[in-house]
Amino acid sequence: MNELFLRIALDTPLDSLFDYRWEPPTRVVGDTDANESVPVISPQPGQLVVVPFGRQELVGIIIEIASTTKVPLAKMKNVTAVRSELVPLSNEWLALTQFAADYYQRPLGEVALPALPKNLKALKTVSLQRGLKKLAKLGDHNDAQATAEPLLNTEQQNAVNAITEPTGFTPHLLFGVTGSGKTEVYLQSVSKILQQDQQAQVLILVPEINLTPQFEAHIRARFPGILLSTLHSGMAEGERLLHWLAAHLGRARIILGTRLAMLASMPHLKLIIVDEEHDPSYKQQEGLRYSARDLAIWRARQLNIPVVLGSATPSLESWQGALSSRYRLSVLRERAVKNAVLPVVKIINLEREKPSEGLTPRLISAIKLRLETSEQSLLFLNRRGYAPVLACDACGWISQCTRCTANLVLHKGDHRLRCHHCGLEQRIPRSCPTCGNIDLQPLGRGTQRMEESLAAIFPDAKVFRIDADSTRLKGSAAAAFERVHDGDVDILIGTQMVAKGHDFKRLTLVAALNPDAALFSQDYRASERLFAQLMQVSGRAGRTAQKEGGNMSEVLVQTRYPDHPLYHALMAHNYEAFAKDLLQERQQAQLPPFMYQALLRAEAKELQQAIDFLREAAACQTHVGITMNDPIPMTMTRIANVDRAQLLVESASRPALQAFVKEWIGTLRTMKSKVKWSVEIDPVDI
Ligand code: ADP
Ligand code: ZN
Ligand code: ZN
Repeated sequence: MNELFLRIALDTPLDSLFDYRWEPPTRVVGDTDANESVPVISPQPGQLVVVPFGRQELVGIIIEIASTTKVPLAKMKNVTAVRSELVPLSNEWLALTQFAADYYQRPLGEVALPALPKNLKALKTVSLQRGLKKLAKLGDHNDAQATAEPLLNTEQQNAVNAITEPTGFTPHLLFGVTGSGKTEVYLQSVSKILQQDQQAQVLILVPEINLTPQFEAHIRARFPGILLSTLHSGMAEGERLLHWLAAHLGRARIILGTRLAMLASMPHLKLIIVDEEHDPSYKQQEGLRYSARDLAIWRARQLNIPVVLGSATPSLESWQGALSSRYRLSVLRERAVKNAVLPVVKIINLEREKPSEGLTPRLISAIKLRLETSEQSLLFLNRRGYAPVLACDACGWISQCTRCTANLVLHKGDHRLRCHHCGLEQRIPRSCPTCGNIDLQPLGRGTQRMEESLAAIFPDAKVFRIDADSTRLKGSAAAAFERVHDGDVDILIGTQMVAKGHDFKRLTLVAALNPDAALFSQDYRASERLFAQLMQVSGRAGRTAQKEGGNMSEVLVQTRYPDHPLYHALMAHNYEAFAKDLLQERQQAQLPPFMYQALLRAEAKELQQAIDFLREAAACQTHVGITMNDPIPMTMTRIANVDRAQLLVESASRPALQAFVKEWIGTLRTMKSKVKWSVEIDPVDI
């Protein structure tokens, strides 16, 4: 008798597939009646199975079916159960996860299994049938009228034409100033693609769904009767399964999601859109540290379909791609709404105009003007809490976290000092822990303190704060933005949360209170990010035509470095000039996108252990064209009592780096060390 062996991916740190014997009748899970005899099925790649693993049972994915195995038959175990009622995951999907596993140097199982909804893997308890029935009812009864498509301007039309041309794999960069109508280009491209092919699915990636519910509402209004599936990390598991199934079964034609949606199963995918493609949230920063944007490009190439990267401030990687004609560039230079113009950006020199409570006299008058005309002001301060640190003047004590290289942030409202890195909390001390001085002073200011000052300076104004603290409860962020949209807010103070794609209608003043810190950061990407943030937050102003008797829309930047080129580029709304300078710098310094990088991180109780491990790792034989740097402590060396160090490896050739790292990881695995280590490809935070 011919035996069948299944090669199965399991979510374990071991970098291999696992062989099991297939011996019917294997138990079938799902919704077969317990009294019926087990149907005979043949195993297929992409099916989910349950297998014994050590003393537990694990869920795995069949990758391959084989007639021979290297595992001794005495050790061979049988597959316990199979989920047969689910359409197997496609070869295309398996190839995507295999690519991600190879590229990011992780075991296939650690990539593929976490990409699936939890409930799909809970083979014993969850009935798929119920989900499938629920799904069948969705989307069928929507006979609402679609909202009309606005007439596109020439630049928008050109972009839609380029995107929907049947050219197979084409990466597009849609570069358009804030308010230039990129969303409209996406929607009309989607519409065309869906019309061309009755089965077509499109994937739209956004940095944050919860912060921009407007976008989802737009899509629903424009495509009534079409099933929209949303995928993001904030969903309940049951809901997640339903939406995932809708995509997997081809029922959902539009899939709107955050980075994790990039790994969803979509059998008829015909277009991928990555909105705000420069946004750091497309990079996963733990576990499988993948870039959803880069995977989007790979998947589009594999499927031979177009992919659109859209931004007002493209990442330098993508911009370089357009300059070198690897990406097809479409530009939207004007705001789409008639007579809506970009705000005037003005710099306020903090050395000359002294602020009180963090606000310069010029900014205070600008806010007053808006209050008089019932227009809104938005103040951007990327620092939550009341004050970044509490200090004692008498002895120099400051509130430091005992577990991290960081200060404890003062949260005055709930009488706490809080570490934003490890979560440590303390009551605010009544007196200095070292000298007993009772006059402890908050140093610097965060959004809570600004909110307090604003309320004192403008007692009649409605001041409102939006940051991670004020929106901790589920759904509260959406409600908060709703309040701003309804006009129930005069002055909005917030962190980068308020910069995202909101279309505030009465907002004519934006101010950046203290953006300078990022100018001198050790992280070479800090200025690229700051510029993108400031452009984005500035873009909230003046999105509609100036009202009669209303104020011109303006952006005020308070800075100690008024001559910094970054602020000059901001004043001129000139991303291109800024990008040109930065790219030149990067080329001279041999940094990405002209160089490819991998980072080995090590964590240990003592910094020295981590450094020693990295030294040993650095001494490994390298390949030609690989540069090995010195091990260094990370900028934030200690988090939650763990010391961290890193070692950067670089190469001008991506394949060379890939080949080296693969071999290197093999060697690192054989090194006996208690240090916890991980390798990151294309790191963004170094
Ligand atoms: P972006 O995504 O580039 O910031 P949006 O797509 O949000 O810009 O568009 C900004 C505003 O312009 C929205 O209010 C939108 O409805 C409007 N708009 C977009 N395209 C057009 C058009 N062709 N005609 C009129 N208004 C438009
Ligand atoms: Zn003291
Ligand atoms: Zn801490």
